[in-house]
Amino acid sequence: MAECSLANGTTKSRSSNKTPPTKDGVTAAELFLDEGLTYNDFLILPGYIGFAAEEVDLTSKLTRNISLKAPLVSSPMDTVTESSMAIVMALCGGIGIIHHNCTPEFQSNEVRKVKKYEQGFILDPVVMGLDNTVADVFSAKARNGFSGIPITENGHMGGKLLGIVTARDIDFLSRDQYNVKLSEVMTPRELLTVASSGIKLKEANDMLQKSKKGKLPIVNEKDELVSLISRTDLKKHREFPLASKDERKQLLVGAAIGTRDDDKERLEMLVNAGVDVVVLDSSQGNSIYQIRMIKHIKQNFPDLQVVGGNVVTTSQAKTLIEAGVDALRVGMGSGSICITQEVPAVEPDVKVVLYEGQHTPKMMAVGRPQGTAVYNVAAFASGAGVPVIADGGISSVGHITKALALGASSVMMGSMLAGTTEAPGEYFFSDGVRLKKYRGMGSLDAMETNKSSASRYFSESDKLKVAQGVSGSIVDKGSIHKFVPYLIAGIQHGCQDIGAKSTESLRDMMYDGDLRFEKRTVSAQVEGGVHSLHSFEKRLY
Ligand code: GDP
Ligand code: 5GP
Repeated sequence: MAECSLANGTTKSRSSNKTPPTKDGVTAAELFLDEGLTYNDFLILPGYIGFAAEEVDLTSKLTRNISLKAPLVSSPMDTVTESSMAIVMALCGGIGIIHHNCTPEFQSNEVRKVKKYEQGFILDPVVMGLDNTVADVFSAKARNGFSGIPITENGHMGGKLLGIVTARDIDFLSRDQYNVKLSEVMTPRELLTVASSGIKLKEANDMLQKSKKGKLPIVNEKDELVSLISRTDLKKHREFPLASKDERKQLLVGAAIGTRDDDKERLEMLVNAGVDVVVLDSSQGNSIYQIRMIKHIKQNFPDLQVVGGNVVTTSQAKTLIEAGVDALRVGMGSGSICITQEVPAVEPDVKVVLYEGQHTPKMMAVGRPQGTAVYNVAAFASGAGVPVIADGGISSVGHITKALALGASSVMMGSMLAGTTEAPGEYFFSDGVRLKKYRGMGSLDAMETNKSSASRYFSESDKLKVAQGVSGSIVDKGSIHKFVPYLIAGIQHGCQDIGAKSTESLRDMMYDGDLRFEKRTVSAQVEGGVHSLHSFEKRLY
């Protein structure tokens, strides 16, 4: 019989030697039985570590037919994903979805840039004409950081190559020579080492090494400029073993579209540009418009992968799965810039200024906490073999691991990737901090820029545009080239702590009830953060 010591020094026998009842958390099904929870409301209990973190395989399905080696998707927002973001996301193993708050021509061209991207080749170099001046080169250098500029007959890409201006042509010019025309200072065509289109990177590398030149223009059979190779890029040549590629070895890319009639034309242009997956961009995807668009796509482009959404309930998911989607985008009101769930205590016509120049007359009171939404939709969709993309509300690498542990196959991020070098827009300074703009696609700011953004949030007949997002700014995060590998390593470490050697086994453990979760009280959340310090520095990678 067990004994216990009393305060007065005596001992007392416990009436039973049975181990008291203990419980290591609950299953996901038990966790989400009643109230709505989001990522911060729970933790995953650790398992057994029997392997190194780098061994964790993060391969996951984006859609029925597309797999990614890193389950990371950049959101179709005009401050997050254009071609630069999509290229690096794909190189790092994820995928970018090009936004549609722009003309169909612009969007399809961005898709084309990703599909045509060849590592090391600059496909849209800054080009000038004979009449540009030395001052133009200096201001291009101040703007972009480089001064190697090909000169063509028409001053544009695709024009006949006439020469090149590099730093060495203009270094020693004095200020009063800044208005000299480039025709006078450029190194002319006959002195250039050029290569023919179709050249492989390795051959180009050899040519640059032999010629000792800094730039190698690539021309077609008509001597028209098709791309440019820079010696600096060859020096920092990197391997991208995780890169997301199609069977022709081109990078994978997605694009968002609306569900209106004119989106069918946009769709066709995107398909011609080589898009791999389209995302039907709607804040409430369970609609007749989306069903019609899914059917239209499946009839006309049967090989194209279609992501439907957004949904947060199983009944919404059911309609879209029956209509034929290849994946579901899950989340409503969880985005960092989103005000869909909020109901402000003001009359509809009272304007709430949330950010300089930003007014929000009304919000929708509709949505679902993201953890509950992801778990329920993923569990339901898994029965039909339809992967789920957890969209919005990801603000740390732990949130990604949690989303995957709740059954999502990938996560879509906006604010996490905004503010990086590859996000569209220029950096600006405010109070000495380097920032980039980040705005909701349902913010009045975005909706006033282009009507495509408004189509995500409103039907044709809506007379008054009602903001469902805000516009703000985000601190400079550096390049995605460093940030995405940090995210990948973070997810691998999370899986290692859990004892899951792959995202697939993580999901299996969850559905088998082996993965244990526990709710977090508010004080547990405080305990889980950095606390009790006078000050600290938070460097993540
Ligand atoms: P430059 O000699 O002043 O042109 O600069 P570097 O060759 O040292 O660096 C140019 C860097 O900018 C390389 O990493 C290029 O890939 C990159 N880059 C991006 N777009 C362009 C472009 O349009 N023209 C040039 N010259 N470089 C570009
Ligand atoms: P984040 O990663 O910043 O938390 O959320 C990004 C997601 O928020 C996007 O992928 C999109 O689903 C959603 N979103 C983007 N703009 C808006 C908006 O203006 N309003 C709402 N309700 N959601 C938005």
